[in-house]
Amino acid sequence: MTRQLAIGLVAHDDKKADLVAWAKANAAFLERNVLYGTGTTGGRVLEALPQLQLTRLKSGPLGGDQQLGAMIAEGRLDILIFFVDPLSPQPHDVDVKALIRLATLADIPFACNAATATLVVKGLQ
Ligand code: PGA
Repeated sequence: MTRQLAIGLVAHDDKKADLVAWAKANAAFLERNVLYGTGTTGGRVLEALPQLQLTRLKSGPLGGDQQLGAMIAEGRLDILIFFVDPLSPQPHDVDVKALIRLATLADIPFACNAATATLVVKGLQ
């Protein structure tokens, strides 16, 4: 049996529906792993897929992105799936940048859209 991976899930508001759709399409993969979502994103995913092992962190703008960043810094997050909205300004842009920076620095698989997230899943099968 392969070990469970810790996967972070985040989506900006206009991308939350896309992430929920992606999660439904990849439910079998997500069910085998341990998930950490920012507050609102995690709530939306759990509403659609209540069977998932998903811990909800704080909402992104209230520190949830930083919580995921801290997990990456501590080596406790294996994959980051973060559906970014490139068309809307984010009040917590500094936190978003910090999270992306840490994922890049730690060299963990980091998907910022559905196409890449799907490739990450395929790469693990
Ligand atoms: P949220 O945070 O899931 O609580 O909306 C996401 C974000 O960082 O914008």
